[in-house]
Amino acid sequence: KSTILSVDGLKTVFQTRHGYVDAINDITFTISQGETVAIVGESGSGKSVTALSIMKLLESSGQIASGQVLFNDMNLAELSDRKIRDIRGKQIAMIFQDPMSCLDPLYTIGDQIMEILKIHEDLTPAEADNRVLELLKLVGIPDGETRRNSYPHELSGGQRQRVMIAIALACRPNLLIADEPTTALDVTVQAQILGLLKQLQADFGTSIILVTHDLGVVAEMADRVIVVYSGTVVEQSGVHELFSKPEHPYTEALIRSIPRADTDRTAPLHIIRGSVPGLHEMPSGCRFHPRCDYATEICTQQEPPLFHLESDRSSRCWMKDGSLAKEFQHRLNTD
Ligand code: SF4
Ligand code: MG
Repeated sequence: KSTILSVDGLKTVFQTRHGYVDAINDITFTISQGETVAIVGESGSGKSVTALSIMKLLESSGQIASGQVLFNDMNLAELSDRKIRDIRGKQIAMIFQDPMSCLDPLYTIGDQIMEILKIHEDLTPAEADNRVLELLKLVGIPDGETRRNSYPHELSGGQRQRVMIAIALACRPNLLIADEPTTALDVTVQAQILGLLKQLQADFGTSIILVTHDLGVVAEMADRVIVVYSGTVVEQSGVHELFSKPEHPYTEALIRSIPRADTDRTAPLHIIRGSVPGLHEMPSGCRFHPRCDYATEICTQQEPPLFHLESDRSSRCWMKDGSLAKEFQHRLNTD
């Protein structure tokens, strides 16, 4: 399958009162046609900043400092605002956690779907009308002739997210970036929306970058997973390998912290001790070391690189360094 987006060494900084701080650093991954790549991590880990950087939707204090975002041979990181606006919504679309903040309360949902078609497509009014009805049907909003005249507040949270998906898919984008698309919804509606996304992906071959803190959603949706911690990729893996054999201590801790239906509910839940460091208090060495059960001397002093492992996986952990392990073994033997 062909790669449709390739993010290489992406670094985004924010200007603060204390100068520039790195929000994300050395984010690297690719996504192929029709694939779902999940970006997972705790809140504050840089998942959303990664998504917003790709789309160049950062707030004004943020800017891409280095790295590339290659999409159809264009480096989005260097594209002008006008050019990126042509791509946004048409070739790459985005949905967010809270549809209410993206939908305009003063316009009907039909008008808002129409609006995106007007911006990007050259359709006659009749064609556009048909597309609106077709899109509403596609996302599971029945009775489109009537429902198109509804205002956002007249819809449930799940229906509003369906409208957002209709707007996102209106121009048949190659890539959909979904940032916590179901986090605000209850479990049943969440399952329906995820099912809808999967169905539409199967129908149109859309690639999806799914930003989530929820490993349940990852297991359900992803082909591959990028685990981010403190603004950087710590593990990259196929979804099955990730759950069956996590390669990074942070991934392992995340997986252990999922409440499981099949185990003793009274058993204490594993919560990873400590929290994601703030941008101003980045620890030395491995950024995870204050919270890591395996940390050794080198972890406190030197930041590990992303080690490439078998089966196209990678892990940013000193334990994956073969020569280091050998040296350690040697020291044990000679002591
Ligand atoms: Fe833990 Fe060290 Fe690996 Fe970091 S490099 S995850 S501190 S073992
Ligand atoms: Mg977020």
